[in-house]
Amino acid sequence: MKVAQFGMMLAATTATLSIYACEKSNPTEVAPETRVEASSVMTPASASDRMQKGGIVMMRRTANGGFDGGATSSSRGPLTPHSGLILDHTNTYAIFWGPAWSTNSQFRGDKITSIQSFFSGFGGSNYANTLTEYGTTSQSTFVTTIMDNSVAPNFDPGSAILGGHLCALLDSHGIAPDYYAFYAVYTTARYIPNPNGYLGYHDKVTCHNVTIHEALLFTADSVSSTDFSFVTDNIYHSNNAAELVNVTAHELAETITDPDVSSGWYAIDGKGEVGDKCNFTFNSSAPFLTLHNGSVFKLQGEWSNTAFYNATGAPNGNVPTEKGCVFSSAPWVRATVSGPIVFKQSQQSTFSAPITAGTPPYTYIWQISSPLTFGYSSTTSSTFTITLYSSVPTQTQYTVTAIITDALGHQISPRLVGNAYPGF
Ligand SMILES: [Zn+2]
Repeated sequence: MKVAQFGMMLAATTATLSIYACEKSNPTEVAPETRVEASSVMTPASASDRMQKGGIVMMRRTANGGFDGGATSSSRGPLTPHSGLILDHTNTYAIFWGPAWSTNSQFRGDKITSIQSFFSGFGGSNYANTLTEYGTTSQSTFVTTIMDNSVAPNFDPGSAILGGHLCALLDSHGIAPDYYAFYAVYTTARYIPNPNGYLGYHDKVTCHNVTIHEALLFTADSVSSTDFSFVTDNIYHSNNAAELVNVTAHELAETITDPDVSSGWYAIDGKGEVGDKCNFTFNSSAPFLTLHNGSVFKLQGEWSNTAFYNATGAPNGNVPTEKGCVFSSAPWVRATVSGPIVFKQSQQSTFSAPITAGTPPYTYIWQISSPLTFGYSSTTSSTFTITLYSSVPTQTQYTVTAIITDALGHQISPRLVGNAYPGF
C-alpha cells in the first residue's frame, strides 16, 4: 500500500535526476545500497509510463506485508477476503497540510482542483464499480476540502502521529470522526526517492474511539518545478496533479477493500492489495478514464479477481504474466436476503432477495443448511417459500443462502442466519 521508489537523495538537481534516469532504465546497475526490493520489481519498459514509474512498489503497512513486488516470476493469484472487511461506501475529505498549499501558487498548480474533481467524480463511476466485485458499492461522496496551514514535517511523521494530527484538525473544524471517511492528507513534504521511498500509504487510526481511515500522500514535484513525471498527462491535468490523483485513486481503492490493512482483500501471499497489483498500470489503448462528473483522469487499473480468472485485463504491474487489472466495470450484482429469523415446524416461511445492483436478468439458487429438511416452492425466483417438515430436537441455527447470478455472470451469495425451534 505504500508506493515506493528508488533513486538518490531528495536534492533534485539536474545531476541527480540524470543518475536517477539512468537507474530507471538500468535497474540491475543500481548501486548496492539502493537495490532492495524496489530494483527487483522493475517491469519491462514497454510503455512510457512503465518506464517513468521506475521501481515503484507498494508496501503493506502491517505484518501481512513487507514489500509488495518481491522478486518472483510466478503468479501470485487472486485477492482473498481474509475476514472480508470492506467499506460499503466512503465519504472523502481532501486535506492539504502545509502553508505552501495556500501561499505558493506554483507549487499548488492545479493539484487541489484536480483532486477535488477526482473525489467529486469517483462515486458512481465505472472506475469505482471495479471494486464492487469485492462487495462494496460505488457510493462515494466528496464531503469537503480542509486547508491545514500548520507546517507539515518534511518527512512522513508516521501513521500514529499523522492520525493524532488529523484528529485534532477535525476537532478544530468541528468535524466528528467518521468511520466511513477517507481522509486524504496531502503534505507539502516531498516524496523522497530513496530505496524506501514511497508516494503514499493508507492506514487506520483511532480518533475519539472511532476507527477512521487516513492516507498520506507526498508531492512528487518540487517548488523548483522538478517533475518526476510518474504519470504523463499534460492534456487534462498537469503531470504532478495527475500523479497525485493516481496515487489517491490507489489508496482510496485499497481503503475501501482493505480498510484496516489486515482483515480485507489482498493477495494470498500477503503481498498486494487491490491497487498494488496494478500499480501505475494504465489502460494501454485508452488511458484516460471519464468519471461520473465528466472529469477525465489517467488512472491506474484496479485488480479484478474475475478478470484474473478469465485471464483478461491488463497485466499485474509487478508480474507481467499475470493479468487482472481493469479500468471500468458494470456494478456487481448486489442483494440481501430477508425473511424470518425464527423458523418453526410446519410453518411456511418466505425469504426474498431483492436486487439493488447488477445487470438483469438474474438467476437464483436457494439453499438452506442442514439438518433441516423442507419443501419449497421454487429455487429459481427472487423469493423462496419453504415449510419445515422435520422436527429439530433442540434449537438449531440455520442459514438461508441465495446464489444469484446476473447476465454478466457475476455472482453473489447473500445469506440470512436464523434459528429453528422444536414444535410450537
Ligand atoms: Zn497500495
